[in-house]
Amino acid sequence: MFAALAGKPELCKLLMDHGARSYSTNSIGKTASELAAFVGQHECVSIINNHISIDEVESYLHPKGENSEEKFPQELADFIHAMCSSNVIHPVALIMKLSSYPDALKYKKKTLYVVDRIFEKQLSLRDTVKFVESKSDKAPKEAALLYAKYLLQWEEDQAVRPNIDSLLRSALASFPYQHTLLFETLAKVMSRSKPGERPGAYENIVQGIFGQRLLALSQFCSTCGAVGAKKRCPVCKLSYCSQECQKLDWAVHKKVCSWLATQNLSVSPRDTISLDEIQAQLADITE
Ligand SMILES: [Zn+2]
Ligand SMILES: [Zn+2]
Repeated sequence: MFAALAGKPELCKLLMDHGARSYSTNSIGKTASELAAFVGQHECVSIINNHISIDEVESYLHPKGENSEEKFPQELADFIHAMCSSNVIHPVALIMKLSSYPDALKYKKKTLYVVDRIFEKQLSLRDTVKFVESKSDKAPKEAALLYAKYLLQWEEDQAVRPNIDSLLRSALASFPYQHTLLFETLAKVMSRSKPGERPGAYENIVQGIFGQRLLALSQFCSTCGAVGAKKRCPVCKLSYCSQECQKLDWAVHKKVCSWLATQNLSVSPRDTISLDEIQAQLADITE
């Protein structure tokens, strides 16, 4: 409850991972997530309400009573748990996680099965696995990042990155729980714009899941969608969460930067990084 009130999503997750009970109430009958909602800590609300325990992942990986089943490494359970228990939904962020544990592709059938069972993030994962398999001449990590670059493609006069936009739109269309309130909410926010228009599918989905306030208060990383991106291109003001994301996007960014600069992205002037800093960072990019 104190972590939720203080707006510490990482700490909320750590506590939940170690068995904190989200249904416990305080002396006035409020749960931690209700307290977080009351003080406007929406990221904490979403962490608490969407928490998935490692036990749940284990129960799908190694079902009880099926001794003949294959044994899977602890790293796989940890990886699936990390994928499913964060509130990250951006395809590129998921691919970057996957690329940091390419062994998951060795167990792809089981991985997809468990993620499917747990929830609906499988589409970007499934498409990534398909793409990686089609690039059998490349190492899995390299192929996964190639797919991220494909998703990030962007040209002048395109209000949003078209490949991510259509991936997310088709993910929603094939969302398996169409009778839920969540789906109705998402369908409604999605109708705010047509494919290729702003707000893009990612912004719409973030608003549908996490609410208008998070959307209004946060800068999202242009590459991976992370909340609270602090680095900005000094020319076009596009936001990034890290150098890694900035590098991954650079080949695309340099083509659209001057056009974007004319598009008036609304940001506050602080938090920009200097041109020298960017150039120093980009000097070691080899492509
Ligand atoms: Zn990022
Ligand atoms: Zn720029």
